[in-house]
Amino acid sequence: MNPFSYARPSDVAEAVREVGSDPHARFIAGGTNLVDLMKYNVERPTRLVDITRLPLDRIEKSPGGGLKIGALVPNSDLAYDPQVSKRYPLLTDSILAGASPQLRNMASTGGNLLQRTRCLYFYDTGTPCNKREPGSGCSAMNGVNRINAILGTSDKCIATHPSDMCVGLAALAAKVHVAGPDGERVIPMEDFHRLPGDEPQRDTNLGPRDLIVAVELPDEDFSSNYSYLKLRDRLSYAFALVSVAAALRLDGGRIAEARIALGGVAHKPWRDTAAEDLLRGKVPEEAVFRQAADHILRDAKGFGHNDFKIDLGRRAIVRALAQAAAGTPQTQIDKRIQ
Ligand SMILES: Cc1cc2nc3c(=O)[nH]c(=O)nc-3n(C[C@H](O)[C@H](O)[C@H](O)COP(=O)(O)OP(=O)(O)OC[C@H]3O[C@@H](n4cnc5c(N)ncnc54)[C@H](O)[C@@H]3O)c2cc1C
Ligand code: SF4
Repeated sequence: MNPFSYARPSDVAEAVREVGSDPHARFIAGGTNLVDLMKYNVERPTRLVDITRLPLDRIEKSPGGGLKIGALVPNSDLAYDPQVSKRYPLLTDSILAGASPQLRNMASTGGNLLQRTRCLYFYDTGTPCNKREPGSGCSAMNGVNRINAILGTSDKCIATHPSDMCVGLAALAAKVHVAGPDGERVIPMEDFHRLPGDEPQRDTNLGPRDLIVAVELPDEDFSSNYSYLKLRDRLSYAFALVSVAAALRLDGGRIAEARIALGGVAHKPWRDTAAEDLLRGKVPEEAVFRQAADHILRDAKGFGHNDFKIDLGRRAIVRALAQAAAGTPQTQIDKRIQ
């Protein structure tokens, strides 16, 4: 690890000022991703701004009737919060599908949104990687790309965003509250993470001095018909090969509203509102779910080792929608596929 200086501010404005005082400064929350990246020499901050003393650790009702979750609420507290597990069980399940209990106790809401890709070459500083070193090339494109993306890729990068929680948040149309040098603003979840395009080094639309202060959940009811289905290489903690967050609102035997977001397939949680529109007004049955799955994966492209994700994704979407329609979500305690 390289030497760095350290600050521990106690208010948001001071934290934003602190991170602006050094172009190579980084915020640190739970440290479960940043410290790993520092050990691998992928991240080399010269200053760490520890935000754990900021008053951002509460879950409160928002003025619109939803919930506002402070950026420092640990993933475990968020998943098990009674308001969250009752009103937004899809979020609870997506969080509990991720990492291990110890990691979830340390990991924060803001840090989870900003965790970096698990592409093997991103962590290996001996190999070219456009995300780590812009312009150096992409080793995954013709390399070992089993875990890489099939949707929204570019010729510069085929990395995936690894978070489970973010897939749940995307399906629930969450909003991210951000404080920066020019004050506060709100970014809808679908605009928060970016596709790689020509700038794969930029994971999100945050500025370098922006601090996530909260995540807001709208006042919507998807608590009866939902499912978070995560497919991975082993039952113990592992990142998703493909995951699906599905939520339906049923009315009179038809789908009144649908939400579908995918994880493990793209540089960002992949939500397809056209596929959701396609489901609206239909009877919830397998043929309809297949149409939605085909629509979502219409432009999917494999890179060799990850070709299997296209068919896996199609089947996972159909299964998650069927579980959501039946009101029998995949339990995250028993991680075998039901
Ligand atoms: C072995 C292992 C297995 C894992 N498995 C999974 C999994 O299956 N699914 C999954 O979703 N995740 C998984 N994770 C990732 C884990 O969820 C993340 O590491 C964690 O959520 C990051 O949160 P943190 O608070 O520790 O972030 P930190 O490491 O503190 O920070 C991460 C990044 O966010 C920035 N940051 C943090 N907070 C803020 C803020 N409020 N505003 C602006 N910037 C901020 C930091 O500067 C840093 O760049 C795993 C991690 C490990 C180590
Ligand atoms: S896929 Fe992206 S993160 Fe992986 S090697 Fe290529 S440029 Fe780097």
